[in-house]
Amino acid sequence: MTYAHPALSSIRAAFFDMDGVIYVGNRPLPGVQELLDYLDATGRRWMLVTNNAALTSQQFSDKVAAMGLRVAPERILGSAEATASWLRHQVDKGWPEGKVIVNGQEGLRAALTAAGFELTTDPFDAAYAVSGANFNLTYADLADVALAIRNGARFIGTNSDRTYPTERGQVPGAGSILALFTAATDKEPIVIGKPNAPMFEEAMRRIEATPETTLMVGDRYETDIVGALKLGMTTVGVLTGIDTRAHFATQSAPPHLILEGLPDLLALFQRADAG
Ligand SMILES: [Mg+2]
Repeated sequence: MTYAHPALSSIRAAFFDMDGVIYVGNRPLPGVQELLDYLDATGRRWMLVTNNAALTSQQFSDKVAAMGLRVAPERILGSAEATASWLRHQVDKGWPEGKVIVNGQEGLRAALTAAGFELTTDPFDAAYAVSGANFNLTYADLADVALAIRNGARFIGTNSDRTYPTERGQVPGAGSILALFTAATDKEPIVIGKPNAPMFEEAMRRIEATPETTLMVGDRYETDIVGALKLGMTTVGVLTGIDTRAHFATQSAPPHLILEGLPDLLALFQRADAG
């Protein structure tokens, strides 16, 4: 399947995955600031959107600032904050008010608290069980959240990434922990992060974007590209992260563009805008 070359001049908003698109480890990738500045200068809105649920938007902003990139916290959406916002909307629309039991780190707890939820460690007092990445996980955490789900708490996952990249290799990610809870409870979670729609919908709501004029740039086909294509966005696969050109190109629905990195995307925008 191939597409007509996308008309970048009509793109009004852009979402970027972070790891493998904006940076790798603690190293910024080439061309990031130049592209973001160009989008600003041409009146386009943008946001960085990551499945990482460990940090708050402020912590992400500080992390990229340490790499020399200027990104305000309002322009970063992690799956912790997306999960908290999404759950707040469900409660506002009629789900019961209630406490939340959390398997996760400070970023997720802070986001849920900021969204007005009271947290509990009592599995029999929780209306919601929310699970994300947790590098300090104990058996007691697993037992409490599983008991809450068995007791009827609605089961929500920040993201389904099964592994998490480290210098030593791939280690268990939030999705592996969700799989454990599913094995222990026979319940499937509602998952917020990419490739699922809630994350993209929350990001679009925040910058008033519509899929037809929005670009999604990602390094992982199965999360970044699949989810964006499903919603009708224009997609760009970059080769600075996980997936190879061959992996992107051999999909039955490949990304609209496959580019080495962000400098190529900036060049295409400039050419498109020049007419
Ligand atoms: Mg990535």
